[in-house]
Amino acid sequence: MKTMKYFSRSYNKGKNLRPPDLYEYHVDNYWFKSADLENQKINEPLRGSHKADVVIVGGGYTGLSAAYHIREKFPEKHIVLLEGACCGYGASGRNGGFCIATDLIRNLDCDDPEIRQKNLEISFYGLNFIKRMIFEHNVDCDLEENGMLGVALDEKQVKELEAYRDRLKVFDLESTFLLGDQLGQEIKSPRFMAGLVIPFGAILNPAKLAREMKRVVEDCGVVVKERSVVTRITPGKIHHIDTELGEIRAPVLILAVNAYAHKLGFFKDRVFPMSVFQIATEPLSQSQWDSIGWQNRQGLYDMRRKFSYLIPSADGCIVMGGSDFTYYANDALSSGNDMYITRKIKQDLFSFFPQLEGLQIDHMWGGTTTYTLDRTPSVGFMGENKNIYYGVGLSEGVPTTQTFGRIIAGLMAGEDNDFTNHYVVNRNIPYVGPTSLRKYFVRAGMWVMENMG
Ligand SMILES: Cc1cc2nc3c(=O)[nH]c(=O)nc-3n(C[C@H](O)[C@H](O)[C@H](O)COP(=O)(O)OP(=O)(O)OC[C@H]3O[C@@H](n4cnc5c(N)ncnc54)[C@H](O)[C@@H]3O)c2cc1C
Repeated sequence: MKTMKYFSRSYNKGKNLRPPDLYEYHVDNYWFKSADLENQKINEPLRGSHKADVVIVGGGYTGLSAAYHIREKFPEKHIVLLEGACCGYGASGRNGGFCIATDLIRNLDCDDPEIRQKNLEISFYGLNFIKRMIFEHNVDCDLEENGMLGVALDEKQVKELEAYRDRLKVFDLESTFLLGDQLGQEIKSPRFMAGLVIPFGAILNPAKLAREMKRVVEDCGVVVKERSVVTRITPGKIHHIDTELGEIRAPVLILAVNAYAHKLGFFKDRVFPMSVFQIATEPLSQSQWDSIGWQNRQGLYDMRRKFSYLIPSADGCIVMGGSDFTYYANDALSSGNDMYITRKIKQDLFSFFPQLEGLQIDHMWGGTTTYTLDRTPSVGFMGENKNIYYGVGLSEGVPTTQTFGRIIAGLMAGEDNDFTNHYVVNRNIPYVGPTSLRKYFVRAGMWVMENMG
C-alpha cells in the first residue's frame, strides 16, 4: 500500500513546540460546564522515562476511539494516551453536538449500488459505535437520535435542499421535503422557506461524550496521561516522544491531534486550521419553546456555505454555532471567542426566531478544526517504518473520528476489509500552499465558495 510522508524531521529541532492555549480550561464553554469538567479529576501528567507498545497523542474522539479499538484487537499491548490538557479539551469537547451519520458519503461519487451500500454502512459506523458505548459501557452523553432538519433561507437554497433529498435517495435514504404550513408545524421561523426532515443522525453533549470515552478506555486498561503536552516527536523504528515533564518510547505512534498536527511538524502543507464559534442561550421557558415549535428536537442547520447549526440541549437551552468561520494567519489556533463572529451567530438566532428576542446568551466559546482543500478527511499510516498512524482533516468529525479509530486499529492489525480499503485511507491529500501565503488562498477560497459556489 502506498503511503505519504507528511512530516519534516528537521522541523522540531531546537524549538519549544508547546502548543499555545492548551491549558486555558476556563474558556466559557457551555459543554465543559454541563459535563462538570471543573470538578472532574484531571489525570496526572507523564513524568520520567517510560516505554509502551503504542503511544497515542491527543485525547479527543480520534485518540480515544483508536485507544478503544486497539485495545479490543490487541488486549496484551501496553497503550499510553498523552493529552496536553484534558480529554475533550480540543474540538471534541467544544463542537456543535451534531452527529451526522452520512458524513463519509458526502463526497462519494459511485454508480455501483453495492459499493454505495458498503460506504453507507461505514459512514453509519460512527453513530452506531457511540450507541454501542452507551449500551455496553453506560456512556452518558445525552444522545437523542432525532434526525436532522435542513432549512433553506432563499430560492437557491430551496433547490439545493431538493438536490440533497435526491442525493440521499441514491443511497436509498428517504427524507421529507416540507413547505408552507407543513414546515410551520415542524418549526416556526419567518426566514425558513423550505425544510428537509432527515430521519437519521443524532444530537449529543460532546464534552460528556469525550469524558465518558476517557472513562471507558481507562476501564479497558489504557493508561491516560493528561496535562502532558508533547513537545517533540522523533520518529523512527522506535519513536521518541518528549513531553514537558517526561519522555516515552514506543514502536507505534498514533497521531490524533487534528487541528494541532502542524504544531508538531505534521501535515503542515496539507491541512489548515479553521476556527469555529458557538453560543448557548439561557434555558427557554415552555412558552418560548411553544413559540418556535421544533418539538421533534432535530439538529437544525441552514444551507448557506457558511451555515448555522443549532441544537436543543438536554437542559432546555439552544446551542448554536457557525454563521461564519475564520482562518487566522500562520495557522494560529483559537480556543477563545471571536466577538465579530459570535455577534453574527446571535443576529442569525434572533432573525430565525424573532419571537425569542430578549433571550439571554449565557455562553460563548470557540475551537479549532481542520480542513483539507477537498474537504475530505484522511486516515492512514506513514513514515519509513509505516508505524505512524493518523487521522486528520476532520472538519466535521463527531461520528467520523469514531470510525477512524476503528480504521486505525484495523490497519495496525493488517486487516484487508471495507474499512481498511475505504477511499479516505492513505489518500493523497492536496497541497494547500506555503504557510506565509495561506491566509490569502484561504480567504480567496472562502470568498469564491460564498459568492460563486
Ligand atoms: C466549534 C466547533 C464546532 C464543531 N461542530 C461539529 C459538529 O456539530 N458536528 C461534527 O461532526 N463536527 C463538528 N466539529 C468538528 C469536530 O469536533 C472534530 O472533527 C472532532 O472533534 C475532531 O476530533 P479529534 O479527536 O481528531 O481532535 P480534537 O478533539 O481536537 O483532539 C485533539 C486533542 O489533541 C490534544 N493535543 C494537541 N496538541 C497536543 C500535544 N502537542 N500534546 C498533547 N496533546 C495535544 C488537544 O488538547 C486535543 O484534546 C466542530 C468543531 C468545532 C471546533
